Amino acid sequence: MKKQLVAREHMTQKPKPKMRGSRARGNTQFAWTGSDLLNGEIVPSLTMVLTTKGCSWARRDGCTMCGYNVNSNPYVQAPDIQKQFNQVIAHYGKAFKIVKLFTSGSFLDKEEVPIDVRDTILSELKDMPKVIVESRPEYVTPEICDDIARTNEHVEVAIGLETSSDRIRNNCVNKGFSFGDFIRASETAIAHDFTVKAYLLLKPPFMTEREALEDALQSVRDAAPYADTISLNLCNVQKGTLVEALWKKGLYRPPWLWTAVEVLKRMQETATVICDPVGGGSRRGPHNCGKCDRKVVTEIKEFSLSQNSASFTASCTDQMLWEFVLEFEEFSYGAPLVP
Ligand SMILES: [Zn+2]
Repeated sequence: MKKQLVAREHMTQKPKPKMRGSRARGNTQFAWTGSDLLNGEIVPSLTMVLTTKGCSWARRDGCTMCGYNVNSNPYVQAPDIQKQFNQVIAHYGKAFKIVKLFTSGSFLDKEEVPIDVRDTILSELKDMPKVIVESRPEYVTPEICDDIARTNEHVEVAIGLETSSDRIRNNCVNKGFSFGDFIRASETAIAHDFTVKAYLLLKPPFMTEREALEDALQSVRDAAPYADTISLNLCNVQKGTLVEALWKKGLYRPPWLWTAVEVLKRMQETATVICDPVGGGSRRGPHNCGKCDRKVVTEIKEFSLSQNSASFTASCTDQMLWEFVLEFEEFSYGAPLVP
């Protein structure tokens, strides 16, 4: 078993372990605590990343920006997954309102998390107000939802939609499913009284900053009817990905934090949009000029809990540069104008 795991908040992001709250590292598990929104209230949450054999799509093909498959282990057996869960609960207890169960892929894929382990874990968390599991839409079927609804009534299904545009999802992300697939999965989950979270990816490769901004705005509008919460994931450069290869050649720049702020501000009336800028301010992560990054990251996190755009007070001289990029990047065919 791998000794070191990469923590992740989202299916699509997190280049290196994320420091948030306290953490426990056992043989195979990686977990941390934090705060999240639950019905408008800020509550304590526990996140755990369980090592599995990995994402079925990553084994077959894979997404352009996702490097999480390096955290999987083809030899993981059902008892190993149960043991990881037990270790995290033994360390942290259950005094949380939200538990997030992440794998390197889909918690609802029985090839990844065998049914008896899945049901044991969900059953142990049946009194938790919310249990978030991540899954590709193909595993959010009526049969699987029937099964888990019998075990746990407080499930939130989190799906990496990335964008509502099939063209961008196919060509820039290589995600291997359609917006229609997401809608079907969402409707199935909702029919079982589960809540739904949609992850959107800000700035997949091969897009200008402006295209990325407009795609994120449109995707929030399109996904809002099918998601209780939208999590805006800011693309970062993970090891071993196509995005990294492009980035090394100077052909990819992660999104500006200002672009994320713009999406959050403009979509405030449309949906509950949250954002955790993983790697914010680093070269591989979403960044501005370097001087204002820390403040803007903090404000984005504050907004995610408050949903109040009064959180955004930062200003910086690089906003003119960002506006210049929005206007002129198309003339370089999307090649970054500013590092
Ligand atoms: Zn700045």
